[in-house]
Amino acid sequence: MSEVLRVENLHKRFGPLHVLRGINLSVRKGETAVILGASGSGKSTLLRCLNFLEMPNEGRITVEGKLVGQVTTKPGVMAYSNAELNALRARVGMVFQQFNLFPHMTVEGNVMIGPMKLRGMTTEAARKLAHDNLRRVGILEKAGEYPARLSGGQQQRVAIARALAMEPSMMLFDEATSALDPELVGEVLLTMRRLSEEGMTMLVVTHELGFAYNVAHRVIFLEGGEVHEQGTPQEVLLHPKRERTRDFLRSHT
Ligand code: ADP
Ligand code: MG
Repeated sequence: MSEVLRVENLHKRFGPLHVLRGINLSVRKGETAVILGASGSGKSTLLRCLNFLEMPNEGRITVEGKLVGQVTTKPGVMAYSNAELNALRARVGMVFQQFNLFPHMTVEGNVMIGPMKLRGMTTEAARKLAHDNLRRVGILEKAGEYPARLSGGQQQRVAIARALAMEPSMMLFDEATSALDPELVGEVLLTMRRLSEEGMTMLVVTHELGFAYNVAHRVIFLEGGEVHEQGTPQEVLLHPKRERTRDFLRSHT
C-alpha cells in the first residue's frame, strides 16, 4: 500500500512549551490509524500541524509523496508557498469536536460552499456533490434544513459531509464525538466506521477505545509529544508494552 501521509521529526513549540518532540509517523492509503493519548499530550496540536492550522517549528510533512512543509535553515520557517498550503488543506479534510457549521446556511449550502469557493464548481455541480456526500453520511433528507434544527450528531455528520465534499485524499478527526450527548455518539462513530470500510484514509484522535479496537488498523499512543508506542489494536490495547500506555488504558476502561 502506498503512503498518503508521512511525518518526519515534527516539532512544535509554544514559547517555552515544547509540545511535539520529534513525531514520526505515516499513514498508508486506505488505512485508519487511531491516535490515543492523555489530555495535553499533543494530539490536537499534531492534527492542527498536519493541516497547517499551526505552523510546525521543525520537520517534514509529505502528502501523497509531495513535500508540503519542511523547515528551512532559518528555524521555524517552513519552505512552502501559499498555493501549496491551500492545495494541501484541500487534500486533507478535518473534522473537529465543534462542528462550526454556518448557521445562516442550509445543510446543503454548508456542504456546497467549499467546492464552489475553493474548487470553482458551479452551483449545480456543487449541489450534486453535496447530495452525494449527505447521502454517504445518511442525512440527505435534511439537505434543506438549517443546522439549528438538527441534533448534534446530525450536525457532526453534516460537518463530515462538508469535509468529504472537498474530495480529500485523507481525513483527520479530532475528538469528533467528544462534544456530543452520549446517545448521539454512536451514529457519528458508525458514519466514521463506514468511511473507514469504504477505504477512506483516516487519522482519528478519539477516546473511544471500542472504535479503536474494532475499526483501526493501527493504534498510535502519544505521550509527552512523542509516539510512545504503536501497533495493531490487539497489540496496543490488549498487550501494551509500555507502562504509560498501560496507565492510560487503565484510566480509560
Ligand atoms: P491534546 O489534544 O492531546 O489534549 P493539545 O495538543 O491540545 O493536547 O495541547 C498540548 C499542549 O500544548 C498543552 O499543554 C496545551 O496547553 C498546549 N497548547 C496547545 N495549543 C496551544 C497554544 N495555541 N498556545 C499555547 N499552548 C498551547
Ligand atoms: Mg485535543
